[in-house]
Amino acid sequence: MITKFDVVVIGAGAAGLFCAIEAGRRGRKVLVVERNSQVGRKIIISGGGRCNFTNVFTSPENFVSNNPHFCKSALARYTPDDFIRLVKKHKIDFYEKKLGQLFCRESSRQIVDLLLAECERSRVEIRTGQSVLKIDKQKYFLVETASGSVECESVVIATGGLSFPKVGATDFGYGVAREFGLKIEPTRPALVPLVFETNGETGKLAGLSIDAAVSTSDLEFRENILFTHRGLSGPAILQISNYWKKGSDVSIDLLPGTNAHELFNTNARSRKSLTNFLSQFMPEKAARLFSPLQIADKPVVQIGKTDLEQVAESLNNWKVRFRDTEGYDKAEVTIGGVSTNELSSQTMEATNVSGLFFIGEVVDVTGWLGGYNFQWAWASGYAAGQAV
Ligand SMILES: Cc1cc2nc3c(=O)[nH]c(=O)nc-3n(C[C@H](O)[C@H](O)[C@H](O)COP(=O)(O)OP(=O)(O)OC[C@H]3O[C@@H](n4cnc5c(N)ncnc54)[C@H](O)[C@@H]3O)c2cc1C
Repeated sequence: MITKFDVVVIGAGAAGLFCAIEAGRRGRKVLVVERNSQVGRKIIISGGGRCNFTNVFTSPENFVSNNPHFCKSALARYTPDDFIRLVKKHKIDFYEKKLGQLFCRESSRQIVDLLLAECERSRVEIRTGQSVLKIDKQKYFLVETASGSVECESVVIATGGLSFPKVGATDFGYGVAREFGLKIEPTRPALVPLVFETNGETGKLAGLSIDAAVSTSDLEFRENILFTHRGLSGPAILQISNYWKKGSDVSIDLLPGTNAHELFNTNARSRKSLTNFLSQFMPEKAARLFSPLQIADKPVVQIGKTDLEQVAESLNNWKVRFRDTEGYDKAEVTIGGVSTNELSSQTMEATNVSGLFFIGEVVDVTGWLGGYNFQWAWASGYAAGQAV
């Protein structure tokens, strides 16, 4: 049996639900189809269970895309303040953790409840536990699921990226784009831990977290890094993973704000061993690892200038070569996706396929760590919601 709706949204994540709410508010008859038995599974696990739902400092510079201008219009029309107003309306208690990142005080489940309550107000129908198998277009779209077909004027693809497949990520959205002749920008895991090319002694530091400034030729992030058994993680590394390319070095300053050369110059007469001296500025385990064996226990005063300069360089400019990322299983997002050249930045509609929209992570727009990805989901969902 074929049922009829104005709009079918595929994927009940942040972007899909938000688009459905907006379209329903305009009086459109909206169906959301979700393959999981539960909606918003990524929202529930996000932000360590507290959902970092936006960032008050969101601006286009916080996003990676082949067209950095594409996100501007949508971000300007639905801002962090707009979403904060909605959160307040639902009496959800929240706080700023750091750097403009807003988290629920209680649970990320509250954001899902907010979206479901708004869907109900907008008379949106949600069908869970149903994968969309195929989409055809003649005069209208025909959306095929295992339990029947739906005819509609507009289809919104909100099926997300490839990261965290265990909570429902599929490549369905990219497949639809290809079928309708839209270009896909190459995808790769992002906001993801990185794996050392050679592991050496650093595995001994697994679990250690230190303040650092991490940079590539493009950008620098100052936050913590976390040593893992195979490489590095922590916020500064997740941020730089959005910009890291295979074969390129990452530079890590382990004493950010301190010039290690000057530090040695002003303490040239110190009688402390090199390791003990460095332990004043960094955890002892790290101080030991960055003190070359032959001079680690020597008093600083007895160490030659060249050796100290080399240590200083390795502290302020530790050049790290990574072999790979930890992959989609550990990545918070996917870089790349449906090319923004194929979409209207005002509405998210495919330029050459009227009635077909792409929103959220499936599009080639990826945010930094810190609430930016949800803000993109709300903003792109809002933009499409006004047009479907
Ligand atoms: C562990 C983790 C923590 C994160 N924390 C944060 C955070 O705190 N703040 C932040 O801003 N971002 C965070 N992110 C990123 C953020 O979750 C995503 O960018 C955002 O959820 C993308 O929303 P979306 O609606 O585009 O896609 P998704 O949320 O991935 O939703 C897509 C939906 O489509 C469904 N689907 C897929 N294929 C089909 C099909 N064929 N038929 C029907 N349904 C289908 C999926 O099951 C899924 O429910 C986190 C990500 C992860 C993995």
